[in-house]
Amino acid sequence: MKITDNIKTVQGISDKRAALYKKLGVESVGDLLTHYPRGYIDFTAPVEISACEVGEYCVICAIVKKKLSPYIGSRIPVYKLILTDESEEILCTFFNSEFSYNKLILNKEYIFYGKINGRPPRPYGTPLLGGELKEIVNPLFILTDDPNKLLPRYRLTAGLSHAIVSANVKNAFRLIENTMFSDLPCEILEEYSLMPVGQAVKNIHFPTSMEEYRSAKRSLVFKELLVLQLGMAIIRSRNRKLTGTPMKDYDISPLYKTLPFKPTKAQVRSVNECIADMKKRVPMNRLLQGDVGSGKTLVAAALAYYAHLNGFQTALMVPTEILAKQHYKTLNGFLEPLGIKCTLIIGGLKAGEKKQVYSEVMSGEASVIVGTHALIQKGVVFNSLGLVVTDEQHRFGVGQRSELISKGHNPHTLVMSATPIPRTLGLIIYGDLDISLLDEMPKGRKPIMTYGVGTDYRERLYRFIIKQINEGRQAYIVCPLIDEGVSEKTSAVKYYNELKEEWFGDIEIGLLHGRMKQSEKDEVMGLFKSGSIKVLVSTTVIEVGVDVPNATVMLIENAEQFGLSQLHQLRGRVGRGEEQSYCVLVTDSKSPYTKARVDTMTRTCDGFEIAGEDLKLRGPGDFFGSKQHGLPMLKIADMTEDNDVIIETQDLARSIIKNDPDLRQSAELRELVAELFKDSNEYGYN
Ligand code: ADP
Ligand code: MG
Repeated sequence: MKITDNIKTVQGISDKRAALYKKLGVESVGDLLTHYPRGYIDFTAPVEISACEVGEYCVICAIVKKKLSPYIGSRIPVYKLILTDESEEILCTFFNSEFSYNKLILNKEYIFYGKINGRPPRPYGTPLLGGELKEIVNPLFILTDDPNKLLPRYRLTAGLSHAIVSANVKNAFRLIENTMFSDLPCEILEEYSLMPVGQAVKNIHFPTSMEEYRSAKRSLVFKELLVLQLGMAIIRSRNRKLTGTPMKDYDISPLYKTLPFKPTKAQVRSVNECIADMKKRVPMNRLLQGDVGSGKTLVAAALAYYAHLNGFQTALMVPTEILAKQHYKTLNGFLEPLGIKCTLIIGGLKAGEKKQVYSEVMSGEASVIVGTHALIQKGVVFNSLGLVVTDEQHRFGVGQRSELISKGHNPHTLVMSATPIPRTLGLIIYGDLDISLLDEMPKGRKPIMTYGVGTDYRERLYRFIIKQINEGRQAYIVCPLIDEGVSEKTSAVKYYNELKEEWFGDIEIGLLHGRMKQSEKDEVMGLFKSGSIKVLVSTTVIEVGVDVPNATVMLIENAEQFGLSQLHQLRGRVGRGEEQSYCVLVTDSKSPYTKARVDTMTRTCDGFEIAGEDLKLRGPGDFFGSKQHGLPMLKIADMTEDNDVIIETQDLARSIIKNDPDLRQSAELRELVAELFKDSNEYGYN
């Protein structure tokens, strides 16, 4: 018997049931055992029957006073009993569950959990029994002296119930022994008072008290986070082994003097923090976190300038071509007056252009190279790459970043993130990455006024946009999402035409969608930036980084389709100038999840708060999922709750790696890391 054996080896799991489990990703005995409960039904604190509120789920402790004879005449057999505690009697009804009825023994005491009804609903034709008593329907129950008073609740799929899973898990435990689990070394278990993993897994399914549950959970979370952090630390240390190229002090104030505005204190501070890093013997490894519009590009420009003064090139990698061009233009605007050559590398360069650009990069003539992931193509050879900046980092795989880094001789790295990552997550993803915060907006920015409305507001919204345009402003409209069976292009074009014909008349409006050629997109974007297009209708291609300070309205159709961080990003396209800006979220969705997002957006413009809410709403699994970061999925640790353990395990992981960088001395740990990272090939961990 091994933990990797198929679940069909467990008693009670047929082919049919195994297929249901497969839907939940549970295929082996180990999967089943680590299909941890999401919560518990708590039988520890029963209330008196007289105190049970109709309509609520209640826990009561009662004796079976009478078993009424079953009524099996109707389509659904009905089984009724009378229960009693000292306070009152209650009718207990099971539909279609002879099993439960038979299990309950007359005059014995049980604890029941179920929904309380008022006057019992009477299926057609059944006799009225129990009169005016309250009723508890299809309750779960345990014997009063059952030591397991917390019944696990699992993530389920149709055909499985909490009770079935729980019974299967119990059977699985019969097959295995504690030694079959790979565990942390004993010294660690002892030092941190952790349960052996086998025991912890058992206790988390069947805790006898909340206390026991908490301590089991801590043990499992600790193990999971420690292993994760060890893996991350190993990956990072591979990237950090080499020493960087220390830079010397140079005066960068000439840049500040040529700017059309005064840099914020936060910008200057961040630049100085980076420069201090770049003077050290290890490469800078820093995250610049700044909300949309906080002016991250200037920080990158200042550092590129500093690297240039030191004789090094800077590469700035961004996720889209539109952004690459914009950043190129901005950086060029900042740096050209200082005699620095910037260049742009994107996918669609013609052969001649490509040759020219590549040779400028190779000769070192170009100091600042802006581009998309086209920067990591083989043909791009740098002369002296000293600084790698990635913008909107959450869109790059870690692999792409390290590829670019490997084109230099241990360059300094700066990651710029517009989506503020909650601290706990940042710790995991970036570990000992240093963080600079742009926690100050450029002067004169007004908070964006945000509203959530239904589609019946559309006409008013269009009129409002026209008014803004007449006052000289511009607007974004994010298209409604595609109807089923219609392509993105068709639906965007249709919406655009309607707007044009029915609303905007001779006002110049433009359309951007993903199916357009790059050159077409660029043209439209250029016209919008220059102000000749007043309204930009767009699918979400404008999502990141685009900067048009004169735009003051962001209208988002089908707002329910976007996550909070995405909405915040979209909203960040406005509010970049001195005028009051507006963001309107249009949705007819009544789901609580949509409401929560709209409420958060209307309540706050603070990106950190929004990131925190996002994490809460979507759950760490989603935020943290391999899709986003290429990291392994966690089974039990919760990034929003397990802060203390994150910090504890981070310290421990650091000290372990310091003494034993490749975990050569601990086969247990090495094996655990390999297991957790087995699907994350992006990390090249094996
Ligand atoms: P983000 O942090 O979102 O990348 P950008 O770098 O695109 O922000 O900057 C947003 C806008 O603010 C740009 O138009 C930029 O020129 C402007 N800006 C940057 N720093 C300042 C400042 N200190 N004062 C005024 N405007 C600034
Ligand atoms: Mg930006």
